[in-house]
Amino acid sequence: METPTQGGGAEATSATILGQNVIYDKKADKDFSWETTIAHEISHQWWGDLITLRTWSETWLNESFGTYSDYLYTRFDKGEDEGALALLEKKNSYLREAHERYIRPIVFNRYEHPGQNFDRHTYPKGACALHLLRFILGDKSFFRTLQHFLHKHAFQPVDTHDLKIAVKEATGQNMDWFFEQYIYKPGHPVFDIGYKWDENLAKVQLKVAQIQDFSLGIPVYKMPVIIGITTSKGKVAKKVWIKQKEEMFEFEVNEKPLMVRFDEGNYLLKEWTFDKKMDELLYQLKNDDVIGKMWAASELVKFKGDTLVAEELRERIQNDSFWAVRRSALEALSEVEVDANIELLKKVCEEKNSKVRATALKILGDTKDSKYVSFFKERFNKENSYVAQAEALRSLGKCGDRSQISFLKKAAEMESPRNVINRAADWALKELLKGRQDDEIE
Ligand SMILES: [Zn+2]
Repeated sequence: METPTQGGGAEATSATILGQNVIYDKKADKDFSWETTIAHEISHQWWGDLITLRTWSETWLNESFGTYSDYLYTRFDKGEDEGALALLEKKNSYLREAHERYIRPIVFNRYEHPGQNFDRHTYPKGACALHLLRFILGDKSFFRTLQHFLHKHAFQPVDTHDLKIAVKEATGQNMDWFFEQYIYKPGHPVFDIGYKWDENLAKVQLKVAQIQDFSLGIPVYKMPVIIGITTSKGKVAKKVWIKQKEEMFEFEVNEKPLMVRFDEGNYLLKEWTFDKKMDELLYQLKNDDVIGKMWAASELVKFKGDTLVAEELRERIQNDSFWAVRRSALEALSEVEVDANIELLKKVCEEKNSKVRATALKILGDTKDSKYVSFFKERFNKENSYVAQAEALRSLGKCGDRSQISFLKKAAEMESPRNVINRAADWALKELLKGRQDDEIE
């Protein structure tokens, strides 16, 4: 008889059902934590169980709220940086769906099966929309609204219209325009940003253009945004309202800014381009919040060949206190310069965060140089993370050394969460055999 299985988790009134994968060893906890899923499912006691969506097109009232709740847990439990990263990952997860599959309004009744509502618009996009609503309303009003919405409709079905009314009742504000933009229309804003500092006027002139594809029904967005301007005297943050397709904002600034930041605090669900000079990006890489640092690292790839860029990326890889910044700097460095950084890459393969180690192992493997075979085997044997071990195996496969087939076959027998080791070993073996076929063709 087959064992009944449950993939992720699901809510039920007064109880949470969790899949069997929730039981794992300490080693797996580094890379396969279920904490956010558990937080998400618990939050359904309110969002889904205490109040329930009236129709399937309102699924976001369960799932966006559940997803926003698991973000709130991460922010509370792991701090500001991990919280910011969790939100960024949710934004990116939605953006991938927007680019690769479709865009649709979050409340949308054109579906064939209810299950189609359970996509990345319903989970992460809606969660990001809630974060933006919180930014616009302010914390006090936002959480008062949630409380009012829940208590007013306890044990009843609800729809978005009920939420809109709850916002009005709890805050006195009419936020219909917000729902119109983010919940009833598809897409998101895409900004093109640029600025110049005018020495004579002592002003920063910031140009903000919305360049999303309006033909798809995406609106011209209206929203507040915080502009952060850093000079040698410190940072000044100003809130402005974006209302048009193209706008110019002016700020009095007496000296050339070290950094101008659009969306200080990272509240907006957006894509953007912001063409900056190398000096500013280098400053941002070192001094901004973690999201800004990661963005600066990826932008610096444009200055490939500049020794200062490689130097500053190396510095961040070794000294930034947040692992995802170290990883972004590492990824950027791999596009800028690899050969000169082999010793550093090897050192990073032993740093404290498993995801950063895995990235370093991948970059080294991409050299496809068989002289690292023994290094990858050593890392595999010494690693205490399944994910980094899997990367060591893939890198071993990329080296193309056929004497490693038995090592990989043995590794493939190892048990691991989601079979990551087994799948990596299989992939590595295929990679080796692929090399053989190429040789035969020659
Ligand atoms: Zn859920």
